[in-house]
Amino acid sequence: MSNKEKTLSIIKPDAVERNLSEKIKSIFSKNNLSILDTKKIHISKDEAAEFYKVHQSKPFYDQLCSYLSSGPIEVIILEGDNAVLKNRELMGATDPKVAKEGTIRKLYGISIDKNSVHGSDSVANAKVEINFFFKH
Ligand code: UDP
Ligand code: MG
Repeated sequence: MSNKEKTLSIIKPDAVERNLSEKIKSIFSKNNLSILDTKKIHISKDEAAEFYKVHQSKPFYDQLCSYLSSGPIEVIILEGDNAVLKNRELMGATDPKVAKEGTIRKLYGISIDKNSVHGSDSVANAKVEINFFFKH
């Protein structure tokens, strides 16, 4: 049985800056995740703080919010069978050093903070995150 889901991907500033957006989007398309909508934006630190508020108690929170607002990002709605988990698999582990071969973070990530992509971690969070950026 198919299990069609939507999820949110963000191409983070380090990857937009290195012109990796098209390469990353082609990985999604090749793996049967369709791009329903996409836009390039530059968010404020306050918006980043709101988006990442689940991490507000973490030691890296302030740096994370500064980073996500440091330059343009591309936000993308992906749709496909088991899209949340599939996107997480394509992204690879948070730390590019330990991400599996062939994953986006292994291919393009620079460090645990500059790890090129964000992906929703559950269907419920995907809805919240999509609503944050898009009127869908
Ligand atoms: N992060 C960081 N230092 C850490 C852990 C995480 O800078 O020690 C950043 C990293 O960019 C990560 C984001 O915080 O992508 C959100 O962390 P999470 O644990 O949700 O990882 P993800 O879901 O992105 O793999
Ligand atoms: Mg996460």
